[in-house]
Amino acid sequence: MTIDLKDRIALVTGASRGIGYFTALELARAGAHVIAVARTVGGLEELDDEIRKAGGSATLVPQDLTDMKAIDTLGGAIFERWGKLDILVANAGVLGTISPIGHVEAKVFDKVMAVNVTATWRLIRSVDPLLQKSDAGRAIILSSAAAHKCRPFWGPYSASKAAVEALARTWAAETERLPLRIVSVDPGATRTAMRAQAMPGEDPATLPHPSEVAGEIVRLAGPDMRETGKLYIVREKRFADYVMP
Ligand code: NAP
Repeated sequence: MTIDLKDRIALVTGASRGIGYFTALELARAGAHVIAVARTVGGLEELDDEIRKAGGSATLVPQDLTDMKAIDTLGGAIFERWGKLDILVANAGVLGTISPIGHVEAKVFDKVMAVNVTATWRLIRSVDPLLQKSDAGRAIILSSAAAHKCRPFWGPYSASKAAVEALARTWAAETERLPLRIVSVDPGATRTAMRAQAMPGEDPATLPHPSEVAGEIVRLAGPDMRETGKLYIVREKRFADYVMP
């Protein structure tokens, strides 16, 4: 099914590489104007080139998401320029270190929480009024199976993803009577820099390319998507009620 996102405004965090990059590209190909956020200017410029080649358009926002005031400013700037936001893909994330929970350095734990949790909440706070101005606001929050599996040595990352799922569910419960639809996404193991950091011994060629995940996320961003407060499991192409089997 082709999704038509013409005249829709989409904000994608972590758009400089990996899942966020390909999601931004696919959203633009579907007709959305993409606001692409990340720190790496080179990655954003490469994305911009690809979007232009595809006949789309983007606004690049080189920004560190640990700068919380800048997130507030971003919401204000989107309101000034477009008066609304149709699609939020809260994708930026960091892994931290893989180590026993008692060995995790405080600065690593704080960074994982700042990028994965606090920045996501701050972004929600910044753009919630803008998404509510859309006739079909869609928010897609990237989670992970780690939120539920809690496997050894993934403590900060697992805790951060459980926290963002709680934020997404709460936000969905608060807005369920509105057109706004909010879902979390478990992309599954995907061929990206983060996955390579987590599993250095793994052959990346055995993993799905991030463009495959991007295609699913774009489907969730469409006006026909009616689910809210659910977790979408990409590998299984189905929604779950957050309670994993
Ligand atoms: P990735 O390739 O490492 O990309 C992460 C993105 O987040 C980059 O664009 C990075 O941009 C951005 N980012 C990180 N810190 C930032 C900061 N302080 N400010 C702004 N942007 C920042 O990761 P990925 O694998 O695509 O992961 C995307 C999402 O999927 C994450 O939420 C991850 O937890 C989730 N996920 C991934 C997998 C997987 O197997 N890959 C599995 C489950 C869940 P800059 O460095 O340019 O700022």
